[in-house]
Amino acid sequence: MEENRILHDFIDMAIQSGGWMLLDRVYLTNRIISIVGEVKEVTVSDEEKPLTSKELIEELLKMAIGNNRVSQTDTKALEVLSSELRDLLTPPPSVVNALFSQYYENSEKEATDYFHLMNVTNGYINETVITKEEMIINKSQFIVKVCPEQVEVDQTEVCDYCFASEGYGVFNNRNKRIIRMNVKGESWGFSYSATPNVKEQCLFMPEEHSPFVFNRQLQETMLNLVDIYPHYFVTYNPKVTSSLPHGYLYGGEASTPLIEAENDFMFDIPGFVTIEASLVEWPVSVIRLKTSVKKNLINAMEYLTLKWQQYSYPSLDIIAKDENGENLHSVTPIFRKDGDAYVAELVLNDDSSEFSRMLEYENLLLNKNNKVDILGVLNLKETKMTTEEVIEVVTTNFEKQQIFKKTPEGQQAFVRFIDTL
Ligand SMILES: [Zn+2]
Repeated sequence: MEENRILHDFIDMAIQSGGWMLLDRVYLTNRIISIVGEVKEVTVSDEEKPLTSKELIEELLKMAIGNNRVSQTDTKALEVLSSELRDLLTPPPSVVNALFSQYYENSEKEATDYFHLMNVTNGYINETVITKEEMIINKSQFIVKVCPEQVEVDQTEVCDYCFASEGYGVFNNRNKRIIRMNVKGESWGFSYSATPNVKEQCLFMPEEHSPFVFNRQLQETMLNLVDIYPHYFVTYNPKVTSSLPHGYLYGGEASTPLIEAENDFMFDIPGFVTIEASLVEWPVSVIRLKTSVKKNLINAMEYLTLKWQQYSYPSLDIIAKDENGENLHSVTPIFRKDGDAYVAELVLNDDSSEFSRMLEYENLLLNKNNKVDILGVLNLKETKMTTEEVIEVVTTNFEKQQIFKKTPEGQQAFVRFIDTL
């Protein structure tokens, strides 16, 4: 019997994933038939370029619908079948981890390239972007993506950050794989985000199911992670993560517009001679620290955070504490490497409504909770507004969020802050 083209290509892809051998062809054919039913011949001309895994799965699902295995309108059942097919493109965790280590011996990037491609091929990463372009926002280049609104199909009863989520259930987590790592004696996992907001968005989670304590140890872990993945940045979303029972960090390719933004001007922090400090040319207030010694970076960051928590400039509504004495000022670090040097981009936060996001701007965002906009990547919903109108809203918003504004008084307030160091 001549093998059906779709089936043939899908099995090729399964074998390429590393989970099967040539000997498994018959077995795989039978597995697929058991999922989709009778396989019908489809006419595909030889000149057509090979179908992607997503297209092959769509064709196989069409066969399942044709064979009355599933109804076209039953999205949940279709998702279950799709996960079952995608499971055949996903090697077991031990194999994925072994291949990852094997590639890692050549280079860190080869390892993440392998793992990322596996997650794209098996559909665990589902990135649909309607349009993507670069826009200038307050003189800085931003990546602006318009994405369809996400439909949550997967309702897991398992913690998404626990290793127990690997392969769990009948939906997308079935095809989730986690790379195991030892980070200075602690067990951590690494996986990709199923719905990435930045390029190669990944998650780093400790094996232990417990809330994060935002302390020096966590910062040390973050710097150890950039040693393991020197081409990725590592950060966290303080608002989201602090409310979770299981803390996690996230990262992605260290190439976001904020990372590539120029230094506006350099300054010294007395007592920290090895540190290169600068204000970043960016729509919100960001200080960049660079040094070749991890410990110095953390010390300088702690010192700067403390000073920021004490700093007020009332005539510009920059106030360190609210009426109850609670800190309004905090710092969110983004760690990465630049050659052998360690770099921290420190986003200065002021929680007063004076510097909060505008509602009109938040309504444009695909997900209000994520803060990747600060990194220079905007994930927007579809809107009837014109590009000019969108830029206008985004620009006005960032002007509001900017703590040290680009006005003579704003610049003076920043110089005053530097003088307190
Ligand atoms: Zn957990």
